[in-house]
Amino acid sequence: MNDQTIITSLYILPLALVMFFYLLRHHRRSKSHKNTWRESVESGLTEPATIHPVFDPNICIGSGGCLTACPEKAIGIIDGKGILISPAHCIGHGSCAYSCPVNAIKLVFGTASRGVEIPVLKPNFETNVPGIFIAGELGGMGLIRKAVEQGRQAMDAIVKRGRSKTPHDVVIIGAGPAGIAATLAAKFHGVRSVTLEQEETFGGTTLHYPRGKIVMTAPMNLPLIGQVNIKEITKEALMKLWEDVITRAAVKINFGERMEKIEHQEDGFLVVTNRGTYQTRSVLLSIGRRGTPRKLDVPGEELEKVVYRLIDPEQYKGCAVLVVGGGTRHWRRRWLFQVSLTLRLP
Ligand SMILES: Cc1cc2nc3c(=O)[nH]c(=O)nc-3n(C[C@H](O)[C@H](O)[C@H](O)COP(=O)(O)OP(=O)(O)OC[C@H]3O[C@@H](n4cnc5c(N)ncnc54)[C@H](O)[C@@H]3O)c2cc1C
Repeated sequence: MNDQTIITSLYILPLALVMFFYLLRHHRRSKSHKNTWRESVESGLTEPATIHPVFDPNICIGSGGCLTACPEKAIGIIDGKGILISPAHCIGHGSCAYSCPVNAIKLVFGTASRGVEIPVLKPNFETNVPGIFIAGELGGMGLIRKAVEQGRQAMDAIVKRGRSKTPHDVVIIGAGPAGIAATLAAKFHGVRSVTLEQEETFGGTTLHYPRGKIVMTAPMNLPLIGQVNIKEITKEALMKLWEDVITRAAVKINFGERMEKIEHQEDGFLVVTNRGTYQTRSVLLSIGRRGTPRKLDVPGEELEKVVYRLIDPEQYKGCAVLVVGGGTRHWRRRWLFQVSLTLRLP
């Protein structure tokens, strides 16, 4: 055996074998992700329901960091580039963006075929109507910790506006993560505030997560409470956390009270609800983007199995379900393909 043959068998062959299996693995992965993407297209499930990643193919190096970071398995790598292969599975926690080593991922709302209007806000979260502020998902950022941070910061800005002759300094509408944080901040600053929540309990969108869902978030700073160091938490543990926070801080939330109208007045606003009216200098809208599903007012609709938003069609596969109401053709198609239960009225 000459030197050349020895070098070939010792170094080049093992290297070639490693390369071969590496490329084979990537080829198979790409093929499987192409199939998943094709299934999503065929089922009409190409529209993500919430904030979602968009990949810049010029920057993406196909490292696969986003794949590992996405517990919902919504992302794939096709031909060396990241892509959202199961858009309907994406729930918008944004871990993929933070895991990308080359910043090739942007988190966006809406798609080319389904635009989403995002309000224009000043850096202090005030809208173009002086005195009306927006925090949380309504303003375009769909993450729990961002909603909390914005609720806190918006309240700081509201405090800076000072007091007026109105009975309230601020009316906070919605008790999801943004509204909870704002309510705590209002108490911290000693402003005269009232928090309205149309549902019978707090939590907003987090209350409607599927049972046992793992929530991905990051440490957050809650006024009156301090730093809460959570990264991964179950839906149930998160709900317990909100409950503990509200009890410890002894803040009051008016449950079952829905804001119906806001009227401009000389010294601020008149907030009209299903129960009464509030005169206030400022209003904080932390109402999220879930909207207000019209309910049927029938016995049993408060049960956990009745839902107003289709999050994961798979979970209803093989179940006997009742669908009430119909949306666009796209939604109907989606319901027909996936056995699902949803009450969704226009
Ligand atoms: C399935 C799913 C999974 C998710 N997973 C994650 C995750 O793992 N990590 C993460 O960081 N984010 C996640 N998100 C996103 C996160 O839940 C939202 O970004 C966050 O809850 C937004 O908080 P918010 O306070 O702005 O709004 P919301 O939580 O939507 O709260 C708004 C509140 O306002 C109330 N309201 C609305 N209108 C009125 C009215 N007229 N009068 C009175 N009250 C009103 C509503 O009842 C609601 O309680 C997920 C979202 C979904 C849908």
